[in-house]
Amino acid sequence: MRIELVRGDITREGVDAIVNAANSSLLGGGGVDGAIHQAAGPKLLAECQELRRTTLPHGLPVGQAVATGAGELPCRWVIHTVGPNRHAGQTNPDLLRSCFTASLRVADQIGVKSLAFPAISAGVYGWAADQVAVAARAALDGATSQVNLVRFVLFNVQILKAFREAFADSAAAAPR
Ligand code: ADP
Repeated sequence: MRIELVRGDITREGVDAIVNAANSSLLGGGGVDGAIHQAAGPKLLAECQELRRTTLPHGLPVGQAVATGAGELPCRWVIHTVGPNRHAGQTNPDLLRSCFTASLRVADQIGVKSLAFPAISAGVYGWAADQVAVAARAALDGATSQVNLVRFVLFNVQILKAFREAFADSAAAAPR
């Protein structure tokens, strides 16, 4: 698996799937979630509403992941995961690692070969970028997956730096 660390806007990524740092409601929010829904258009929200009506009436639990189509986005799928909210006392890093692991598992189930992640929980949910980066690294190191490209698309240079440090000695991480 090749790993890339780039600065950018995940809504522009033409990979097979992008991961959304959603909230449990799956009905949209701020930050990267808002940007993804805005760029994807109403089809994405309709699919999320359908999930709430059917398989996820109580929403998506923290640390789990689920896939939908991508509406008008340049990718094919959106994989929604819910990061732990530090401000709500969700301070267990296993939950954060689980977001990356569960997203990869869902990606495998739908045949995704290239996958882009944002820095889950590093915004409104209050985790430090280096903690997110370490959790991401641990998840990828422990994964067996058919995904052959994982690209972390980081919104600012501080977060990019934190990921570069966490992946510094990773043979899989390469500059784009
Ligand atoms: P959370 O609620 O999980 O903390 P946020 O959306 O608030 O989610 O933040 C997660 C990370 O996503 C933050 O580092 C934020 O800077 C980043 N982010 C926001 N918009 C985008 C975007 N369009 N592309 C990539 N990352 C983004």
